[in-house]
Amino acid sequence: MEKYLNYIDGEWCEPSTGKFAPVVNPANGKTLGEVAQSAEPDLDRAVQAAKSAQSVWRLVPAPERANYLYKVGELLKQRKEQIARTLTSEMGKVIDEARGEVQEAIDMAFYMAGEGRRQFGDTVPSELQNKFAMSIRVPVGIAGLITPWNFPIAIASWKSLPALVTGNAVIWKPATETPATACAFVKIYEEAGLPKGLVNLVHGSGSVIGEAMVEHPGIGLISFTGSNEVGRKINERAGGLLKRTSLEMGGKNAVIVMDDADLDLAVDGILWGAFGTSGQRCTATSRVIVHKKIKDALEEKLIRRTAELKIGDGLDETVAVGPVINTEALNRIHQYVETGKKEGARLLTGGRILPGKGYYYAPTVFTDVSPEMVIAQEEIFGPVVSIIPVASLEEAIVVNNSVTFGLSSGIFTKDVNKAFQAMRDLDTGIVYINAGTTGAEIHLPFGGTKGTGNGHRDSGPAALDVYTEWKAVYVDFSGKLQRAQIDNN
Ligand code: NAD
Repeated sequence: MEKYLNYIDGEWCEPSTGKFAPVVNPANGKTLGEVAQSAEPDLDRAVQAAKSAQSVWRLVPAPERANYLYKVGELLKQRKEQIARTLTSEMGKVIDEARGEVQEAIDMAFYMAGEGRRQFGDTVPSELQNKFAMSIRVPVGIAGLITPWNFPIAIASWKSLPALVTGNAVIWKPATETPATACAFVKIYEEAGLPKGLVNLVHGSGSVIGEAMVEHPGIGLISFTGSNEVGRKINERAGGLLKRTSLEMGGKNAVIVMDDADLDLAVDGILWGAFGTSGQRCTATSRVIVHKKIKDALEEKLIRRTAELKIGDGLDETVAVGPVINTEALNRIHQYVETGKKEGARLLTGGRILPGKGYYYAPTVFTDVSPEMVIAQEEIFGPVVSIIPVASLEEAIVVNNSVTFGLSSGIFTKDVNKAFQAMRDLDTGIVYINAGTTGAEIHLPFGGTKGTGNGHRDSGPAALDVYTEWKAVYVDFSGKLQRAQIDNN
């Protein structure tokens, strides 16, 4: 049986506990291998290794650090298909989406390698004569990365690559559901020749290793992606310890369909957003806010197209919707569907757990949903979408903004005035015009407002702000004491 080990100080090693937990393929319930269940001593070793590696790495010129990232990008390219298949086997998304996810990591590697020659600061005039003023970025030190199972390589790449190029060491705790993809990514770091101790992988549960990372005095920064429940807990504790946290959490994303929209295009966007990755994306389309005038026409098309989706093992190239992650997820999704029915929403299609060995839920569409219903407010994280009728763009925007999350939104309209009004007034971190709620590109900031995040962004140039501190440097070459704000006034 495959054993997914820790990688600490450049060595693949067993956890100090000697314990492992099974890893299951959600498409068929079969055990794929077992993952290390680490404890505090493993984390301590990783922190010591990271500390020592970072003390050297921070002095390596950033363009030289970037050369390792170029190698990482090349190796990811070579291994794209293999990693995609591993990813599908352990988390279930269909193979095309898995390939797209690995591509995201490749793009991120090359993009962040480019940052080796940027990492711009400012040089500004001083208010005093013969004095020079500038700001530079310096690494935080050790970045603790805690990631979810739904994007097991993309999210890890969004976090580890900017951390490394800016001079940090990394300790990564992936989700216990997806250790094989994590090991495949770390093997690439190893093969790229990164100095030992710079990237450390510590598998284990959130309640043991995740919490220990937040507590550990050697880790100055936690970059977390996952649920709001866990993110809030991390923020509270890390806040008390005065640690920096970057949090990317849940979503309750909506697509608005106006009465002038191209309905076939809108349905394409809704299907991809709602049922891609079986609805298990933070950017999943969970609500469709539709103009009353075209509601019936949209519903008819949506039901017809939903019925055509082939459900099954994501390794089958003809499958459109794979399994959800596990039995708990199936039950949670079904519970939400039952709640929706009790609240008076009308079930158009789906609403049931599918029989068989894997964890499959029928793509589900509710209509006549009102904005305050539980199914219109809470993140379901499954293939369930709710249609909410409205009478105007203004009402649609109010409904969109009425949830506690603020990750992504989309609008289908041919009216440029409406599109610009939506761009201005939708309160999410990402807005799409004539596209669904998913499809972020790596060179733009990724993240959300309100309950989705805490003001930081993954990916794009904004990611550098998470992993660096600003240092202001003043160079006085006047040869005398010059007092700012005093000697020049
Ligand atoms: P989760 O919060 O259960 O787990 C995420 C990670 O946190 C895992 O590695 C887990 O082991 C760890 N963890 C659990 N308890 C912990 C604790 N007490 N202390 C520290 N770490 C702990 O989330 P999940 O089920 O893996 O992922 C689904 C969630 O992630 C959804 O809410 C989804 O919207 C969100 N997500 C957000 C984004 C984004 O960028 N906004 C992207 C993907 C997923």
